[in-house]
Amino acid sequence: MTAADVRTPEQGGVPLTTEPRAPREAAGHADPGAPAFAPDTDPLEVIAWALETSPDLLMPSAFNLNGVVLLDLAARAGYRGEVVFVDTGYHFPETLATRDRLAARYPQMTFVTLNAGASPEDGQTPPDLYAADPDACCAVRKVAPLQTYLRDKAPSALLNARSRDQASTRADIPFVETGGPRVKVNPLAHWTRERLEAYAAERGLPVNPLYFDGFLSVGCWTCTRAVRPGEDARAGRWAGKGKTECGLWAGENKL
Ligand code: SF4
Repeated sequence: MTAADVRTPEQGGVPLTTEPRAPREAAGHADPGAPAFAPDTDPLEVIAWALETSPDLLMPSAFNLNGVVLLDLAARAGYRGEVVFVDTGYHFPETLATRDRLAARYPQMTFVTLNAGASPEDGQTPPDLYAADPDACCAVRKVAPLQTYLRDKAPSALLNARSRDQASTRADIPFVETGGPRVKVNPLAHWTRERLEAYAAERGLPVNPLYFDGFLSVGCWTCTRAVRPGEDARAGRWAGKGKTECGLWAGENKL
């Protein structure tokens, strides 16, 4: 397509958005050494495989709907490792309360909070950096603490809750992903939001209450809004800032 092919709204074309979005991030590659799981493979089967092949598996979590469902599935599959959360200092109180409820529900796992006690005034970043340069803010407050922790723990694989229908940038996520310092196992890659919601309801899981106010993906209060009808689940994250990922799962410093 050339510029001459673009029709203006007056010419019947679709209005171009003025809201910048980051370019699509290349997904990690499917691990050719992993079993050929089918899209409808039970996530429990994927987790069981991961536990067998990577006993040092570690699970980072931000306790969104996907994360809460994955925690429950992991518990059922026999995961007894760590659940690692990064406190940026800007989390909603509801998110911290969700973490605490989950820690009480799954005492067989060890809940670790990195950067515990962080706050907007702690001096880690200048005030309002999140508005001026959210990539820099995420790099300091979110990515760096987890990278440092993982360097020390050196797990061979991470258990991750991303799913394809969360965002167009995640549409290609495989069950087992390479491309980065360690394997990422994504048991929920093919589960839809409806399926996640049904599972959470059936199991009575403590979903972050903000979810039911339209915060389908909850990050820092400074950088999250509720999504609007028809938007994908992550559209409320860094809306209007040309940013779609915090840097943990995409970009040069991805986990
Ligand atoms: S989501 Fe916003 S406030 Fe939170 S670490 Fe990233 S830029 Fe900073």
